[in-house]
Amino acid sequence: MRFDEDTYMYHMILHELQDILGDQGVSTSESDRVAYSVDYYWVSELWHERGSKRLDADFIVFPENSGQVSRVMTLANEYRIPVTVWGGGGGSQGGALPVCNGIVMDMKKMNKIIDLDTVSMTVEVQAGIIMQHLEWELEKNGVSTMHFPASIYCSTVGGFIAHRGTGVLSTKYGKMEDMVVSMEVVLPSGEIIRTLKVPKTASGIDLNWFFIGSEGTLGIITEVKLVVRKIPEVRKFQAFLFKNLKSGLETGRRLMHEDLIPSVIRLYDEAETKSLIKRVLGIDREGFYLVYAFEGKEKIVGLQHKYAKEIMSGLGGEDLGTEMGEEWWLNRYKFFFPPYAFSLPQAFGTCDTVATYSDIEKIYFAMKKTVEDNYPKAKFIGHFSHWFLWGCMLYARFIVENPPQDPGKALHMYNSIWDDILRAVLANDGVLNEHHGIGIKIGRLMKEQYKNSFRLIKDLKKQLDCNNVLNPGKMGLGF
Ligand SMILES: Cc1cc2nc3c(=O)[nH]c(=O)nc-3n(C[C@H](O)[C@H](O)[C@H](O)COP(=O)(O)OP(=O)(O)OC[C@H]3O[C@@H](n4cnc5c(N)ncnc54)[C@H](O)[C@@H]3O)c2cc1C
Repeated sequence: MRFDEDTYMYHMILHELQDILGDQGVSTSESDRVAYSVDYYWVSELWHERGSKRLDADFIVFPENSGQVSRVMTLANEYRIPVTVWGGGGGSQGGALPVCNGIVMDMKKMNKIIDLDTVSMTVEVQAGIIMQHLEWELEKNGVSTMHFPASIYCSTVGGFIAHRGTGVLSTKYGKMEDMVVSMEVVLPSGEIIRTLKVPKTASGIDLNWFFIGSEGTLGIITEVKLVVRKIPEVRKFQAFLFKNLKSGLETGRRLMHEDLIPSVIRLYDEAETKSLIKRVLGIDREGFYLVYAFEGKEKIVGLQHKYAKEIMSGLGGEDLGTEMGEEWWLNRYKFFFPPYAFSLPQAFGTCDTVATYSDIEKIYFAMKKTVEDNYPKAKFIGHFSHWFLWGCMLYARFIVENPPQDPGKALHMYNSIWDDILRAVLANDGVLNEHHGIGIKIGRLMKEQYKNSFRLIKDLKKQLDCNNVLNPGKMGLGF
């Protein structure tokens, strides 16, 4: 929906929004409309750079409480105006882009810490708080969520729940979704609901799971209670080098299955070891670099390291020492920022996936072959970074140095690589994504992934959002 600024309707809606949020709570300025038309999705940056039509909102609103969020949704339903929720705008899938124009709702004024309960070890926050700001406050009290993604500086608690985010210590502490105790959510209709006070009940379906991962399509997360942990006494790293992927993967699996509970296992493929590990950490070696960490009480961590080292050496790992592991921790976010991150004019995509240990290796090779056989100008790199009892995550990327100059052609090429690579994933028993989500980027493949069960998700959307006003066009749910 695009409003003509000279119309009566435009001014009436602006007036009603100002009535709900105050004059400071609504913006129609050109600079804000530009700022809220680019997230971390490659295409949104490309279209700006090459002068294509931008995906922007008519109104940007900044609620401070759930009541205001609710009233905006009621208004949106009355006038059938699309509303797109914006956390930090750090998502890579175009999830926060207002593809149908209308209203962008920036959540960052909802940034209060409501309660820290160090008896139950929970913290209750408004969902628009930036993750780093929350961590700073928690650390003053000797606790932490232990959620440390590379976008900790810019993304919000609500955004991470909406995308099922993953931090670098996820192997011990879980993904963002595992940290949720309860939530307050504003439904598309404007109704405010709360999920049960604790998650491990036998009171039927857990409503938290309706909204976790729903990418702002089923409800707006306004308040959340999260688990917190004591900051560990020690955190110790060790690095190894493997000659092949198989022994690296087998080592990771064994660490998980021997119940050693590492907080980090990160295995880089040969291409990343040769490029990023060399450039960021200064380790100039051929092979597969692996770093792991244990943390907690010093004595226990000592024992965990002793057993882990035995596994490593047994599988042919060359010990690179503690320092080469510490170095990784100190530089852990650097990999994702300039000059190490990819940027225009390069075309790049992170096709993270997750699968069982039985399938993950074949998925890696299927993705690599797809890129290398079909796109000779593209590079393929990857690492395995979040480990579970049943399998692990592959953070695979493709990079094209010189995509077509014409934005339409560039988009076409980009979408074809995504289609091919993700079809290779699905054909080999992987899933579309592990923590970046679906958004507008890969929504078209949701039907292929879910097959007939996708109808359940579509029915749920229809039931909760009968006017399709909340984040239309995302996750393959239609316009
Ligand atoms: C440099 C860099 C490094 C990154 N590293 C990581 C990483 O290590 N781990 C990781 O998981 N991700 C990472 N990301 C991706 C990004 O941070 C995540 O996808 C994050 O979940 C996005 O949160 P956000 O607040 O920025 O949300 P946005 O991008 O603003 O929005 C993302 C989606 O969430 C919805 N949404 C936002 N807030 C709410 C809410 N309150 N209620 C309902 N829906 C909402 C939006 O509508 C949209 O669909 C990285 C991104 C960058 C730029």
